[in-house]
Amino acid sequence: MGVRTAEAYLEGLRDGRAVFFKGERVEDVTAHPDLGVGARHAALDFELAEREAYREMMTCLCPETGETVSRYFVPPASTADLLHRREMVETSTRMGGGVVLLIKEIGTDALFTLSLIARLADQKYGTGYLERVRKYHAYCRDMDLSMAVAQTDVKGDRGKGPSDQAHPDYYVRIVEERSDGIVVRGAKAHTTCAPYVDEILVIPTRAMAEKDRDYAVAFAVPAHAKGLKLIASHFGGTSGSAFHHPVSSRHRLCESLTVFDDVFIPNDRVFLKGEWDFAGAVANTFVQFHRFTAVAYKPPLCDLFIGAAALIADYNGAASASHIREKVTRLITYAETVRALGRAAALSPRVVDGIAIPDPIVTNIAKHYFASGYHTAVSLVQDIAGGLVVTGPSEEDLTSPETKGYVERYLGGRAGVSTEDRLKAFNLIRDLTASDFGGYHELLALHAEGSLEAQKVTIFRDYDIGRCVGLAKEAANIG
Ligand SMILES: Cc1cc2nc3c(=O)[nH]c(=O)nc-3n(C[C@H](O)[C@H](O)[C@H](O)COP(=O)(O)OP(=O)(O)OC[C@H]3O[C@@H](n4cnc5c(N)ncnc54)[C@H](O)[C@@H]3O)c2cc1C
Repeated sequence: MGVRTAEAYLEGLRDGRAVFFKGERVEDVTAHPDLGVGARHAALDFELAEREAYREMMTCLCPETGETVSRYFVPPASTADLLHRREMVETSTRMGGGVVLLIKEIGTDALFTLSLIARLADQKYGTGYLERVRKYHAYCRDMDLSMAVAQTDVKGDRGKGPSDQAHPDYYVRIVEERSDGIVVRGAKAHTTCAPYVDEILVIPTRAMAEKDRDYAVAFAVPAHAKGLKLIASHFGGTSGSAFHHPVSSRHRLCESLTVFDDVFIPNDRVFLKGEWDFAGAVANTFVQFHRFTAVAYKPPLCDLFIGAAALIADYNGAASASHIREKVTRLITYAETVRALGRAAALSPRVVDGIAIPDPIVTNIAKHYFASGYHTAVSLVQDIAGGLVVTGPSEEDLTSPETKGYVERYLGGRAGVSTEDRLKAFNLIRDLTASDFGGYHELLALHAEGSLEAQKVTIFRDYDIGRCVGLAKEAANIG
């Protein structure tokens, strides 16, 4: 089939899927006033593949079929491939107003993971998963499908494992095994773009014990599957004025509470079924790929912070103040450190079964550095901008004959800058940092791709501390 058009993608979302928004069933996500914004944002992935200027970056000839396919589906095999993949993610996010598209990136992160772990499970249990994963991967690639990943379970009591919870459904589990497939029940939280994809890949969120066997499950399910309910979050977006919300009126993500109300999964879509000792490997390998994706999509928003801060400082007539220059310098350092660490993670990959896995230490340091510095970056932009970010007048005040004159006269800044442009710059900063969308970005920075502690755990676990201890002993003359 090759690559699809944006229209074909949007048409594919009108398939009777059970999406709920603020308690109401949504018949067509693409036509919905709030959700439609995210659907059109996601469609950018297909538009870029169609545009001459981006076609070569976003597509390639499939090494297996010779057809033109989205490049996301071709596993990275080297540093060069990883750097290209990160460039695709960064470029498409920049085109998306600093908001990642995430309808191919995350799904292929999971496909690469499943193929690596399927081989290991097959070797131990003779399960035949690798062949299934390969066929499913080829199906998604050849149909140019969009994918979400539902990894994070709702988890109930965080101090307890899947089988020790107050009720058995806080982690997605197998409730019935049939000769032709399995039936699953439970719910995953925060599934980004679930209302906007063709397929949802479901993988474990943590390592499991033997008693958690029923929870050690990985599979793929079409978004319109019977029994699958997507309760979409209404936070983090707006269908409001483009003047007030210059970015979020055009770009947004949307997460769902993804409910599996006894959903049947045929055997050819099941990639882990009770092999509890591989649940942790799936969970950990996925985040290696996905945090690399994450640190590729973070820099465009950091660039917007630098640009917005420098712009408003100029409009306010404060650009040459030494403390403003120092703060913009810190924003530049923040953005370029995230970008450089993201690139560095591609430099020494581990290649397994022909798939290049980014350096886990550098990837996790990059993600942790970004997440732990994000709120400081927000405060620097807000500090430079001033209070009008949240106290300024509305679009209507700027057009009403009764108020327009006052607004234009009193809210001017540096000579030569129109009041309207100055207000637009404030609106951009509010949208990015002090709105519902801005707050969403703060939580996205902190928790998406795993909370701060998750990165620290990996850094400590994977780092060769022994090498440094050896050096310390040598320096101390300890034999
Ligand atoms: C915007 C956004 C998009 C996301 N997209 C996706 C997606 O597409 N797919 C997906 O699967 N997930 C997604 N996530 C989920 C994300 O990975 C989780 O939010 C993250 O792993 C934290 O899980 P949680 O939200 O359940 O918080 P919790 O796990 O409850 O964490 C809250 C705090 O409690 C701590 N904590 C939790 N358990 C323990 C424990 N046992 N011991 C000690 N401390 C503990 C954590 O370290 C953290 O500080 C997304 C999240 C966000 C915010």
